[in-house]
Amino acid sequence: MLEEISKIKREIENTARNISSREDLDAFRVTFLARKGKIANLFARLREIPPEQKRDVGQQLNALRSFAEELFKEREKQLVESQKRKTPFLDYTLPGRELPIGHTHIVSRTIADIQSIFVRMGFSIATGPELESDYYNFETLNFPSDHPARDMQDTFFIKDDVLLRTHTSPVQIRLMESRKPPIRAIMPGRCYRNEVISARSHVQFHQVEGLSVDTHVTFTDLKSTLVAFAREFYGKSTAYRFRPSYFPFTEPSAEMDISCFLCHGNGCRVCKNTGWLEILGCGMVDPNVFKAVGYDPEELTGFAFGMGIERTAMLRHNIPDIRLIFENDARMLRQLG
Ligand SMILES: [Zn+2]
Repeated sequence: MLEEISKIKREIENTARNISSREDLDAFRVTFLARKGKIANLFARLREIPPEQKRDVGQQLNALRSFAEELFKEREKQLVESQKRKTPFLDYTLPGRELPIGHTHIVSRTIADIQSIFVRMGFSIATGPELESDYYNFETLNFPSDHPARDMQDTFFIKDDVLLRTHTSPVQIRLMESRKPPIRAIMPGRCYRNEVISARSHVQFHQVEGLSVDTHVTFTDLKSTLVAFAREFYGKSTAYRFRPSYFPFTEPSAEMDISCFLCHGNGCRVCKNTGWLEILGCGMVDPNVFKAVGYDPEELTGFAFGMGIERTAMLRHNIPDIRLIFENDARMLRQLG
């Protein structure tokens, strides 16, 4: 009997050593500790033991049962621990991974920013077709028939009289034809010119033009409107100047410069060391334009202005090459997000 006890003890040790799963653990319990298990069988045979040995064998059997129970608990604990380790650890306090979110293209955003300033000043927004006639793109805008802008060099002609608009000014004509003054509107849109693509010019670009027509619109109104815009768009401390210029559709005409916000007037590559940046063209609407749309130039006055969106965005974000804006390289676009 004692021999058998030590044999089962070795068996218990070996079996316990090989437990690697819940099933192994259950099998161990069934084999040794269950009501019909090997240890219970030994207890049942205690009856056969001569009385003088009973006490000793009984103690040995109790020790064997404790031994098996201890081993069972120990292996069970180890099994639970190792399963915990296998389960991936989730740290709920970690910050989440950011999902990539798209954003508005730099051109659209610049247009929206310009629009929001003028809308607050009481301007509405008007749009028109990109495919235009010579009449709307040139003739009504007081371009003499021999004006160089009409040349094939600058304009994409689709047919003799159909072209891709070279500026957003035709929208001003369409607006005046369809509405009675007063008019206060801005016209954002895409334009096309047949130019060699370089760092500074592209065959497609965007403009925002503005028009204000009423009975007593003066050059002072033009200046105060554009200065208010420039100070809001480029910063409150922006200095400005107006230089005389020439456009067929305005008289007098001017170009507006602002103090270079990159070098604060000290001179840099972008302002070509002048300390000034040209931001837009403007002027009082030429009486010939009013006549073309059936307005009375004796009764009405107005101002108009226009700026290039890409140039504006390039200045504002210090983008060195216009081509970067249209190449849609995600690395570039992400930086402007
Ligand atoms: Zn500068």
